[in-house]
Amino acid sequence: MEVIKAPRGTRDILGSESWKWAYVSSICREVADDFGYKEVHLPIFEHTELFSRGVGETTDIVEKEMYTFEDRGGRSIALRPEMTASMMRSYLENEMRSANQPVKLWGIGPMFRYERPQKGRYRQFQQMDIEAIGAQDAFVDLEVINFSMELYRRLGLSNLQVLINSVGCPKCRPNYRKKLQDFLKPEHDKLCDSCKNRFDRNPLRTLDCKRPVCKEITANAPSIMECLCDECKEHFDKLMLGLNRIGAVVKHDKRLVRGLDYYTKTAFEILSGDLGSQNAVCGGGRYDNLSEAIGGPHVPSVGFAAGIERIVLTMEAQGCSFGKEPSNKVYVVAAEPCVRIDTMDLVRKLRMNGISADMDYMDRSMKSQMKSAGNMAQYACIIGSEELAKGIITVKNMSESTQEELTIEQLISKLK
Ligand code: AMP
Repeated sequence: MEVIKAPRGTRDILGSESWKWAYVSSICREVADDFGYKEVHLPIFEHTELFSRGVGETTDIVEKEMYTFEDRGGRSIALRPEMTASMMRSYLENEMRSANQPVKLWGIGPMFRYERPQKGRYRQFQQMDIEAIGAQDAFVDLEVINFSMELYRRLGLSNLQVLINSVGCPKCRPNYRKKLQDFLKPEHDKLCDSCKNRFDRNPLRTLDCKRPVCKEITANAPSIMECLCDECKEHFDKLMLGLNRIGAVVKHDKRLVRGLDYYTKTAFEILSGDLGSQNAVCGGGRYDNLSEAIGGPHVPSVGFAAGIERIVLTMEAQGCSFGKEPSNKVYVVAAEPCVRIDTMDLVRKLRMNGISADMDYMDRSMKSQMKSAGNMAQYACIIGSEELAKGIITVKNMSESTQEELTIEQLISKLK
């Protein structure tokens, strides 16, 4: 029988990498605390309807990428492909409307999309997500964009590009849609199959298509800026003014549209110059109509999601620091088999004092225990019957090859 492998598009994050994830998470938490966002833990599966109505029926995510199944009670359930819809559901369900607005939430966890796997694109991936729910002010958009930039600054990332655009609102977007369709119509037959398919339902996505023919056709497409209503225009101008004031370097990309239907007004994306084709390290924007789409009242909101795998890949490519890799301080070595019970007790006492310690459980010779100590720890603490009789421990610094004899109290105070 063949050994069972993990499903395509998933990865095991092993010890050699998971400490880097822990570091990135700790910085996410730090920035969230400083910006006043509260952490939430939301379900990994939700009713499919939350995403089909929230994210949008015509989006790639809902049309092609969701992991959907019927549970034993006959309900249609989906593994979450993103967190924003769940955040809004949680806000409505937990009556956060009665709290101070905007309610600022953040979370981190796995998302699931049935995409074609490649470097930086997986079927299970980790996102950090922040949402400021319940405020219309463009300065909240500014705060959210500033949050992402501050996160990357603290992680030490460079060579990033911040793209920003407005995707209008239900008042002005239909005008642009019509204008874009009129522009694309003569070229309709040349568009790729997906763009042909979404020509009627979601023509804006053609601007986002990576296929060279579609890129060429849309190169001179009309800009949405010409169609924005006064409210969307004012919102965009206020945001740009704010970004300018905080010295943020951003590029107004008039072709930026996002793959999720719920965006209104602000859309933004941050690209890393050190990733291949999957180069977006974060994407977000304003979604004033999501709440209504899932059955709630009007709740203007803005947020972003950042991909942890892509952050780690960029940090590795740029040689950023992940802090200190956790390692054992001490490996306790039994010089003779009869003292193993004493090594165990010493390991316990060191750990109780917050000193990371380990020992051999395989009855190996002293020589191979010393080898393990050299590989795994800073210090080897050797106990034999002679040491026990004298009430001391032989402590060897493995990198400097120096040695001293200490009592357990001296050892603890030296290493703590
Ligand atoms: P989105 O929810 O599509 O706006 O994605 C937000 C961020 O999540 C992107 O900028 C990426 O950093 C990350 N991301 C999205 N899809 C994937 C994926 N399949 N694999 C890894 N990271 C992803």
